[in-house]
Order: sequence, then structure tokens, then C-alpha cells
Amino acid sequence: MAERIEMSAPVVEIDGDEMTRVMWAMVKEKLLLPYVELNTEYYDLGLKHRDETDDMATVEAAHAIRKHGVGVKCATITPDARRVEEYKLKKQWPSPNGTIRAMLDGTVFRAPIMVGNIAPAVRNWTRPIVIGRHAYGDVYKNKEMTAPGPGRAELVFTPRDGGPETRALVHEFDGPGILQGIHNTDESIRGFARACFNYAFDQKMDLWFGTKDTISKTYDARFRQIFEEEYESSWMEKFKGAGITYFFSLIDDLVARVVKGEGGFLWACKNYDGDVMSDMLGSAFGSLAMITSVLVSPDGKYEFEASHGTVQKHYYKHLKGEKTSTNSMALIFAWTGALKKRGELDGIPELISFCTRLEESAVSTIESGIMTGDLVRLATPSPDNRQVSTEEFIGAVRARLPA
Ligand code: NAP
Ligand code: MG
Repeated sequence: MAERIEMSAPVVEIDGDEMTRVMWAMVKEKLLLPYVELNTEYYDLGLKHRDETDDMATVEAAHAIRKHGVGVKCATITPDARRVEEYKLKKQWPSPNGTIRAMLDGTVFRAPIMVGNIAPAVRNWTRPIVIGRHAYGDVYKNKEMTAPGPGRAELVFTPRDGGPETRALVHEFDGPGILQGIHNTDESIRGFARACFNYAFDQKMDLWFGTKDTISKTYDARFRQIFEEEYESSWMEKFKGAGITYFFSLIDDLVARVVKGEGGFLWACKNYDGDVMSDMLGSAFGSLAMITSVLVSPDGKYEFEASHGTVQKHYYKHLKGEKTSTNSMALIFAWTGALKKRGELDGIPELISFCTRLEESAVSTIESGIMTGDLVRLATPSPDNRQVSTEEFIGAVRARLPA
């Protein structure tokens, strides 16, 4: 075997729970360690360890990404009441993804891993559609209430420096109803815009953005305006040089164009649009295990992860000693994404080419018909198609790499 590739700076390695934790160890042992002298700073975000450390493990992991610039995260349990009982937790700890996202103030980019023998539900999507979801504000930080009966609902803004209040009538209720207040900040929208322009430029993809600014002439219009300001002040020349474009349209027009198009662009989505549309695209491109996900902070810190959960049902089978057929593609690509980024930042071309080779091996394994159960159901029928176990799939990818 050739010399293992050395790394000059660490990747922040964030371990997780259940079936993804099992696969995490397999991917490292079979696909990475034989080829790369992995330099990682390890954080155990398994639920038990989060509980033991009063969730400080999560906070420390986020700090470590801030410090080293690149992290890779396994899926983790967000505990609900049942999990509190199952793991005898001190309390119902918050979602680690939520904590890390808030600390990095990032934008999440999700892209499908396309393979030749799984056709997207939309025939003309021959190239990937990447979603960039604004992860702050709007309906996710709303305040809402019921209007129990007739009365007046108003928006009131009170300046901190004591200036005059601004008021606007929302509705004069004649009977019971509902109302909601939402907000966003210029700073967060600008960070979102920058992250999207950066990602599109980095990947040499067009950037599409849509809002409902014809109806929402202040709120949605602000998003449009900030994107335009960023584009004109910092990106127009760079985009022209790279042969890519920034395209804005009304959100409903944009959705229609997405479906009719061939893909190959980054779709910047407001928070709610991104929540809904990433689920639609995820299923249209096949399986959640065929989606890569990366959180990018405005100052260029990266956290790569799999977007699916810990695959609890498969884990319980695994614990009983039964065979599982769990797809490790998203985890493999989380690792290759993080290591490639390290390779770029630290100037290690061998690391980048190894990761590209590993990704190609994983894709060609599926294209040869060897795949896990979630994909067998979706693949173009062929006598070569064969459902394999979790371990066998990883073994088949390994068999395509140098001995
Ligand atoms: P899940 O882990 O995504 O799994 C839901 C179902 O999707 C599975 O039962 C399986 O379907 C299929 N699936 C998902 N990933 C797969 C893979 N890699 N290979 C094959 N099939 C796959 O969601 P969940 O079971 O609802 O959630 C389990 C735990 O994950 C929860 O505690 C939740 O908090 C956590 N979670 C974590 C993250 C994260 O950290 N990124 C994200 C979401 C959820 P079949 O059973 O039909 O085979
Ligand atoms: Mg969603």
C-alpha cells in the first residue's frame, strides 16, 4: 500500500448516535484510515455523553469548528420525552444541530448525490439542484396569538433611543381570529446572501432567488434589495468572469422554472421555502441518504453532515444481531466534503484527489447495481441490481479503491 496521506490541520470530528454512529466507525476504518493519516479533534455528541457533560460537549464542538474552520458531524438524537426515559437523561437537551447552527450563524446547503441508475422524479433534472436555506427568523421565531373576539391588532415599534413609536394596524377584528408577528434582521439576511454568493461562486453554479415582494412590499422586498446590493457591490464582476449568473424572480415564477429547468443551480430559499422545498427535492432526487448537507458561516467556517437522522429502526435491528441495509452515502460524502475542504485550505492536492476517487467509487458501486435497500426500490430495474447489507456496501466501495 502507498504511504498514507498526511494532514497538517485537524478536522473537527463530531460523533453521534445509533445506526449512524455504527456506520461512522465503519467508514473511518474501511474507507479512510487505510489511506489517510486522519488528523481530527474528536467530540463525542452521543446522547449519553451530551447528558454527562450537561450538553457542554455540543458547545465545545461548535467552538472547535470556529477555531479550526472545518468540521464533520454524524447524525445525533434530538431527545423527546421517550428518549429522556430511554436514556435516563437529566433533561430534554436541545437539538445539537440547532445549537451549532445558532453559534455559527450559518446557511445550510443541501445537494443531491446523483447516480446514473436512479432517475429523479422530474425527468428533465439532469443536473443537481442545490438548496441554500436561510436558517434564521421568519415563522421560526414568530410570536402568535388568537384574537378571542372583536378588537384591534397593531404592529408597534418602539425605538430604544426614545424616539417616537411607529404603529400600523394589522386588522380590526369583528370576531375571533388569529394573528402572528415575524421578523428578520438586515445582518442575518446579508450573511445569508453572502453565503449564497460565496457558495455559487465556489461551485461555479448560477444562483437563483425568489421572494413574494409584489405582495410583501417591505418584508420580502428587503430580502431582494439586500441580495441586489451584495451582488452589485461584490459579485457582479466575479460572476461574469466565472460565466455564471444571478437570477431573481417572483417565488411562484421561480418554482415553475425550477420544475421546467434542467437543474445545475443554487436555489437560495427563505427559511420556510427552504424547509419545504428541501423535503420536496430530497424525495424527488431519491432518498435522504443521497443528499449532502453543509453549514457555511458568513466568515467561512464549514460543517459537513448527513441530513438524515440516526436511522433508529435499523439500529434496533442491528442491536438484535439482525442484518441491516443502511445507506452510508451521505456519511461518506460528509467526510469527503470535510477532507476536501481541508485539502483546499491547507494545499494538500493528494487529499482532494483521494476524496474525489472515494466519491467516484461510491457512485460507481451503486451504478454497478450494488446498493442498500432504500435505493433498490428506486433504481432502474436491472438483473445486476442486488440489495446488500450495510457492511457489504462499504466493502464494495472499498473494493474499488487501491488494495
Ligand atoms: P431517520 O433517522 O432519518 O430515519 C427515518 C427513516 O428513513 C428510516 O427508518 C429509514 O426508512 C429511512 N432512512 C433514513 N436514513 C437512511 C439511510 N441512511 N439508509 C436507509 N434508510 C434511511 O429519522 P427518524 O428515525 O425519524 O429519526 C431518528 C433520530 O434521528 C431521531 O432521534 C431524531 O432526533 C434524529 N435526527 C437527527 C438528524 C441529524 O442529526 N442530522 C436529522 C433528523 C433526525 P425505513 O425504516 O423505511 O428503512
Ligand atoms: Mg422540512
